[in-house]
Amino acid sequence: MRDEFRDWLTAHWDAELTLQEWRERLADSGWARPSWPSQWYGRDLPAWSEQLVADELGAAGAVGPPLGSGMWLAAPTILEHGDNELKQRVLRPTMTGERSWCQLFSEPGAGSDLAGLTTRAERDGDEWVVNGQKVWSTSAHYADFGMLLARTDRDAPKHAGITYFVLPMHQPGVEARPLRQMNGYASFNEVFLTDARVPDANRVGAPGAGWKVALTTLAHERSFGAVRRPRLERGTGRVVDEAATEADHFFETYRWYPQRAGRVDLVVDLARRVGRADDPVVRQRIAALLSLQRAQEWTARRAAAARALGRPPGPEGSLGKLGASRVARAAAEVHAMLAGAHGTLAGRDGLLDGIVTEVLVSVPAQSIAGGTDEVQHNIIGERVLGLPKEPAP
Ligand SMILES: Cc1cc2nc3c(=O)[nH]c(=O)nc-3n(C[C@H](O)[C@H](O)[C@H](O)COP(=O)(O)OP(=O)(O)OC[C@H]3O[C@@H](n4cnc5c(N)ncnc54)[C@H](O)[C@@H]3O)c2cc1C
Repeated sequence: MRDEFRDWLTAHWDAELTLQEWRERLADSGWARPSWPSQWYGRDLPAWSEQLVADELGAAGAVGPPLGSGMWLAAPTILEHGDNELKQRVLRPTMTGERSWCQLFSEPGAGSDLAGLTTRAERDGDEWVVNGQKVWSTSAHYADFGMLLARTDRDAPKHAGITYFVLPMHQPGVEARPLRQMNGYASFNEVFLTDARVPDANRVGAPGAGWKVALTTLAHERSFGAVRRPRLERGTGRVVDEAATEADHFFETYRWYPQRAGRVDLVVDLARRVGRADDPVVRQRIAALLSLQRAQEWTARRAAAARALGRPPGPEGSLGKLGASRVARAAAEVHAMLAGAHGTLAGRDGLLDGIVTEVLVSVPAQSIAGGTDEVQHNIIGERVLGLPKEPAP
């Protein structure tokens, strides 16, 4: 397979195309997502083919499909639950990067209890009219499409009255207001929906079946790890330049995500800088942190190996997420111990140009995003350990 892809790449890679032209070529060849069905821009290959193609693209200095929730969450969800007309309309522009996405699930009163959401959609001929408010919506200030969950039947039990839509974001009824976080960044938004319109043709799955569809999106969300920059350093030409600009724009939203993960990579150097590297208590704490991180990495690799073998995202996703939270919190404690009062200084006054302080005020997000630690504990208790379900009111 590697040989076949290399041959294709040698014959078709052209650095002077536009980024979109190149991605169209990649999508139409089936190599952009080789594990997808051949009918939908794939090649029916096993899941491990994805990594092989990514490695070969990187080695050749070529560019892959776009980053972001479109390819990671929306496309696999639509592939599984959407009808053919919707797949026809949205998969290709998502793969070429012409359309970007955001996730409109959480609301002020519905995060962990997502099924309690109150944004409603009412049928009006061939369209639905949407009213309500979403929050925490990452990248909604520029996204073209939103993965929207809305209540379409108020009389049905809460999980049964929800429908999943592809909401066109650029319309008068959709207003995204960025929220400023305590670390100074503004990567997510409140989204106000006032008589926003969505065609019935943009419904994913049957009316009332949205919960099942949302579980597919959430399973994919829990299973992907850190967001990595594409390896573009080996490439040159127009495609690569445009991809680098696209990556800069994309990563603007995620600039603080490494800090949110705890920056374990900085602690040894920081201990030396502040003259504490010989302190036995400090050494013990750092050793415990590095051991925890190593164990977490191996768990994540086990999850990745299961995915590469084509198994659906499973409980390792929840374990990995919980592990990442523990590492981040342990790292923040070590940073705080080393920084002392300096840990309260932001910007250039702070240690490592303020990065240490940024770690301290970003780490809490790790335990919230994509489902809180407590909710992960519930999932592990119920689905992995088979404990009785928590009592529902
Ligand atoms: C950086 C970041 C990016 C995000 N991006 C998006 C996005 O793009 N789109 C989107 O839709 N959402 C997004 N979210 C929202 C995220 O999914 C929610 O914040 C999360 O699901 C928690 O919901 P909540 O904030 O309403 O907290 P709540 O559900 O109100 O929880 C409050 C507290 O109660 C605890 N709790 C709640 N229920 C239980 C229970 N059953 N058992 C035990 N404890 C419980 C929680 O663990 C938490 O400590 C993002 C969040 C963050 C931090």
